[in-house]
Amino acid sequence: TLARTVLSVENLSAWYAESKVLHGISFDVREGELLTLIGRNGAGKTTTLRSIMGIVKKRTGSITFNGDQLIGRRIYEIARKGIGYCPEERAIFSSLSVKENLTLPPVLQSGGMGDEELLEAFPNLRSRASSQGTKLSGGEQQMLAIARILRTGSRFLLLDEPSEGLAPVVVKEIGELILRLKARGFTIILVEQNLRFAKRVADRHVVVENGKVVDILSAAQLDSDMERVQSYLGV
Ligand code: ATP
Repeated sequence: TLARTVLSVENLSAWYAESKVLHGISFDVREGELLTLIGRNGAGKTTTLRSIMGIVKKRTGSITFNGDQLIGRRIYEIARKGIGYCPEERAIFSSLSVKENLTLPPVLQSGGMGDEELLEAFPNLRSRASSQGTKLSGGEQQMLAIARILRTGSRFLLLDEPSEGLAPVVVKEIGELILRLKARGFTIILVEQNLRFAKRVADRHVVVENGKVVDILSAAQLDSDMERVQSYLGV
């Protein structure tokens, strides 16, 4: 039997000012699932995450999270429902230390990880606890950006290209972290251009092209259809 649907996106359209960039996106996410959004640059993956989170305000259609309609809701209301967003630019506070970055976000849900638990889960952040944000490597910044969300107690994570710009060995560490989160029951939408990375961690893949969903593939289907999917991505 399938797990229950946590997030359901139906016929989502979204605009930046007068420019329409999403044209009726639909997909759903089941509890504990790890879903990727894949597609070439400018396809609308980031905008989809930003629409779920309420950062893109001009949107129509329906986005329900545990049955609650998110369209019309503000960012803080959506965050309080238990959705954590980790943007591509990571957005950590560069003038603050690792420890300060970790302790800044509010605890929004019960079950968030405490300081000590976070430093245990991210051993490389412990040794950097008093380092300034700017002194961290790209991989450490990514870890910190994810750790920060775990503090809030959100169980549903939107991760925008966590592998971007990182060395292969660091990409592997991020992949292991994401798999540990999945094993702990987190539900995750991951935007990813790196198909090999996506393939290693995800259950299903939503292919986005020109602001539309053109395919939804299981992990097994992606495996047997890599060539065709690569052609979608223009690689
Ligand atoms: P990328 O990996 O490059 O971020 P993406 O699939 O995430 O690609 P989006 O960032 O969602 O794509 O962009 C979708 C479309 O919206 C693109 O045509 C882009 O140029 C446009 N766009 C993105 N951000 C803005 C913005 N702030 N204002 C106007 N147009 C934007």
